[in-house]
Amino acid sequence: MKTRYLSADDPKTPEIAAQILQKGGLVAIPTETVYGLGANGLDEHAVAKIFEAKGRPQDNPLILHVAEAADMEKFCHSIPEAAWLLAEKFWPGPLTMVLPAKPTVPRRTTAGLSTVAVRCPDCAVTRQIIRLAGVPVAAPSANISGKPSTTTAQHVLHDHDGRIDMIVDGGSCRVGVESTIVDLTEERPRLLRPGGITPEQLLQVLGDLIVDKAVTAQIDQDAVVKAPGMKYKHYAPQSEVVIVAGSREKAAAYIHRCFVPGDRVLCFEEELPLYESFAPLAYGREADVNTLSAGLFAALRELDDPAVRKVYARCPEGGGVAYAVQNRLKKAAAFQIVDAEVEV
Ligand code: AMP
Ligand code: MG
Repeated sequence: MKTRYLSADDPKTPEIAAQILQKGGLVAIPTETVYGLGANGLDEHAVAKIFEAKGRPQDNPLILHVAEAADMEKFCHSIPEAAWLLAEKFWPGPLTMVLPAKPTVPRRTTAGLSTVAVRCPDCAVTRQIIRLAGVPVAAPSANISGKPSTTTAQHVLHDHDGRIDMIVDGGSCRVGVESTIVDLTEERPRLLRPGGITPEQLLQVLGDLIVDKAVTAQIDQDAVVKAPGMKYKHYAPQSEVVIVAGSREKAAAYIHRCFVPGDRVLCFEEELPLYESFAPLAYGREADVNTLSAGLFAALRELDDPAVRKVYARCPEGGGVAYAVQNRLKKAAAFQIVDAEVEV
């Protein structure tokens, strides 16, 4: 198959992408979070192609992307007031809500769950494509399953050239980590995945929020969990990743003691001088966490190289968007963290 590659600015793009979706094809779409691998979310056969192209486990449900909040009613029932409040405040934007699914949503999309995840992305061309297609677009991150997510159209081309119908190039993703997911189907709202909308922002609207254990710990592969995708290996380059926690100086001392040729250092721009002789890779500035979320996956992709033995990674502290960066980096590191303050 020849993969068409069009710019988001090309006036023909929305119509071509919409037609491919209507015919059951796969289109990689830009969003403010990461690039998605999209298909008609109401067409089981089209959705099956997403799982096939990504090598995605069948029990990992997809997010339905809609063009406006009112569309929630087409695919969800028993929508609580909180969902409308969140949509009003944060849509279009990097927030996904899990709600009871209407029978119109195929089981393939929800991976057999009675709930469905919905989001309205903050990307004009993608909302235009969804509108023109006239169907919700089911789209997981466009990476091959388990690999770091795709934050540029080139990442998507690398993973899927010749295997999908079209890629829409909308430049680099602004947020750079996947959407925040909040489950509103239980008595208390539950954070399933941190992202660009922070727990603090959710709390302001909801007044209450539980953090699912999948966010903070490694989940057993056989476990039955609320967020099925969370138990799989995620975001990881081929080599081992270890997070080195602690002060800048202590971390640098630890890494200098352990570093051997073939290792790489993934750090903040502010720390580059500390690792001069190790060809360090910076993914953003510690002083501006948005640059860290925007740069993380591109950096993890660069490190996804068989020549790399081990990656020593620095991770931002604190809440807000840093919480999402910590979550992705800890998963990439399979929760391997050394504390340089106590290590000798
Ligand atoms: P991604 O593969 O990056 O698109 O992530 C989609 C995430 O949404 C996965 O981790 C899923 O587990 C989660 N998700 C989608 N639908 C549901 C749902 N109905 N209930 C809980 N989590 C969901
Ligand atoms: Mg993903």
